Amino acid sequence: MSNEKTTHFGYKTVPTQEKQKFVGEVFHSVAGKYDLMNDLMSMGVHRLWKRYTIEMSGARPGQTILDLAGGTGDLTMKFSRIVGDSGRVVLSDINSSMLQVGRDKLLDHSYAGNIEYVQANAESLPFADNSFDCITIAFGLRNVTDKQTALESMTRVLKPGGRLLVLEFSKPTNPTFERIYDRYSFSVLPFMGRLVTNDAESYRYLAESIRMHPDQKTLKHMMRKAGLDRVDYHNLTGGVVALHRGFKY
Ligand code: SAM
Repeated sequence: MSNEKTTHFGYKTVPTQEKQKFVGEVFHSVAGKYDLMNDLMSMGVHRLWKRYTIEMSGARPGQTILDLAGGTGDLTMKFSRIVGDSGRVVLSDINSSMLQVGRDKLLDHSYAGNIEYVQANAESLPFADNSFDCITIAFGLRNVTDKQTALESMTRVLKPGGRLLVLEFSKPTNPTFERIYDRYSFSVLPFMGRLVTNDAESYRYLAESIRMHPDQKTLKHMMRKAGLDRVDYHNLTGGVVALHRGFKY
């Protein structure tokens, strides 16, 4: 019997060291149509979830913000306006295709001066200790192989008094609603994926990875274990998504 460590990639069991490669293939495949698919799948509601995240971030002019697993830069775009010329936003992602789409979009919309782009793995962030006033990771943590290590890495680079916001799919609070949502995820999402990106598999992975992600209470516990304080969460759209926030002291 093999001693190789395994983890999950959606519902599949894969060698731990290969998960990152599989996740990479998903996002290289969907990058070009990522924004369009987000609007279609959520019927635009992801914009409200992101707006709420910005409100809860407490970002202010002059601050330094890390938009981790930031992909095509939706949050970066908003933070860039808020922190202004005296502040700085780092858009960071492990995937070059997602970063490229994000960079092109931000340049097309004339965002430039206060944004930096850094390709990095959330598990081993290439930033000095105590660097950021605020870190966001939106719909990213679910894809990371070692989530606890990533949360610890984020806590390390936060300044004392800084906050981490994790916006992620979570567990619906109403069982009837959960059944309807399940049906939607496993039939409509791969169908849309095939239609729009010619890639049903990546969207099946999306549905499966959501089910495999820690629920609200488990994630809260993981954030505390990473050293964050005053950790709390807010369910959005009946718990389809949850926003967790914790502070470093
Ligand atoms: N934050 C953006 C948003 O909300 O629209 C993009 C979210 S997208 C669903 C997930 C992103 O996480 C992808 O761009 C992917 O490349 C990135 N990602 C996956 N694993 C990562 C890791 N280990 N470190 C950093 N980014 C990662």
